[in-house]
Amino acid sequence: MATPEKILIIGGGIGGLACALALIRRGIAVEVYEQADQLREVGAGVQMGANGTRVLHALGLKAALEATQVVASGKQARLWNTGQAWTTFDLGAASQQRYGAPHIFMHRGDLQAALADAIAREQPDAIRLGRRFASLVQDADGVSVTFADGATARGALAIGADGIRSAMRAGLFGPDRPEFTGVVAWRGLVPMAALPAHLRSNAATSWLGPGGHALHYPVRRGTLMNIVGFIERSDWQIESWTERGSHAELANDFRGWHADLHAILGRIEAPYKWALMIRPAMPRWSQGRVTLLGDACHPTLPFLGQGAVMAIEDAYVLAACLAKHANDHGAALARYEAGRRERTAAVVARSLQTRMKAVDRAFANAESAAGHIEREWKQERVTERYDWIYRYDATTAVV
Ligand SMILES: Cc1cc2nc3c(=O)[nH]c(=O)nc-3n(C[C@H](O)[C@H](O)[C@H](O)COP(=O)(O)OP(=O)(O)OC[C@H]3O[C@@H](n4cnc5c(N)ncnc54)[C@H](O)[C@@H]3O)c2cc1C
Repeated sequence: MATPEKILIIGGGIGGLACALALIRRGIAVEVYEQADQLREVGAGVQMGANGTRVLHALGLKAALEATQVVASGKQARLWNTGQAWTTFDLGAASQQRYGAPHIFMHRGDLQAALADAIAREQPDAIRLGRRFASLVQDADGVSVTFADGATARGALAIGADGIRSAMRAGLFGPDRPEFTGVVAWRGLVPMAALPAHLRSNAATSWLGPGGHALHYPVRRGTLMNIVGFIERSDWQIESWTERGSHAELANDFRGWHADLHAILGRIEAPYKWALMIRPAMPRWSQGRVTLLGDACHPTLPFLGQGAVMAIEDAYVLAACLAKHANDHGAALARYEAGRRERTAAVVARSLQTRMKAVDRAFANAESAAGHIEREWKQERVTERYDWIYRYDATTAVV
């Protein structure tokens, strides 16, 4: 099997770096072009189910992840106004035994650094920073990319891993039409040591309220608490990881919620807000010698905690397809799309359904919240919702 020439990857986020490492592990040279001047992931956590950690371990990252990850253990739900707490079934804690891989919580920067370090050890010049993709042209032999600063690069193929507002996608298929869901996500990190002692917990906690939902869990060996708060709002619709909000605005969005939640929200070092959008599924991801992965082609709402994991699964399967069909990029990209389309569409659709539950108006009082927890969070219902997600093994997918 001939090894294809160098492959260009646009975007050095979680999906782009995972793809670069997966290709390098198969002996395929890559160049990753990232617009940022530094590889510095936004300050936020990411949870990763067994279907994600399984792939990262196969890429040789087990020890690197273990240096900073927190393994899920213990889960509770709390009522928005009284703070009443229920201990609920924790599929994450059962993950290693049930799925053969752990469910972990990580700082996104730690995950990105683990990927980048592994790439640098194998191919020190692979990651090129400060290069913003502007346009590309394809011909019979390859793809030529031009960056915003006028620099160019050429490779056998190009992969767009440039995220939810992908310029690669727009260049190939035209502008998209995102639709606002009516929900804004707040997120931030709090030093664990800054929290009152009773809130320094390793349990993942979900706060249920009318028209809102908050989730917090520890990252970076338990030294930081990651918190995400979802709230129904119609007045603000900017989709960006880097849009700062104020503490006053955040406190107002969760007005009337319990003091423990405010104790965490009030200590966020820098609160960011993100308007959640949905997009129709794309009929195709590839054109000629170019394809897309991750949020660039199937952005999802975050309610199943699977966006980054889907990008990682894509990365592994795409690398396997390119290695197997090394002499036929058309076949490789067709196999990749065929292998990934149905699964990613199912995750997108189920996340949208979960959005309705996550900000359910029924959580106004203890009886309705208790009824919901009793119905939806018992072991059978939780495993029914997540088993198909966590069991999938991208490392053995037939390509
Ligand atoms: C509130 C919230 C919570 C979430 N929580 C989770 C979770 O717990 N678990 C989970 O699995 N997922 C979660 N997600 C989803 C997850 O963050 C994304 O699905 C994931 O980051 C997608 O990875 P990606 O590599 O496709 O894109 P990104 O991570 O967005 O990376 C894209 C990269 O491309 C670069 N780029 C963009 N344009 C250009 C250009 N023109 N030229 C060069 N480079 C460019 C960007 O700078 C960036 O580095 C969450 C999302 C949100 C909004």
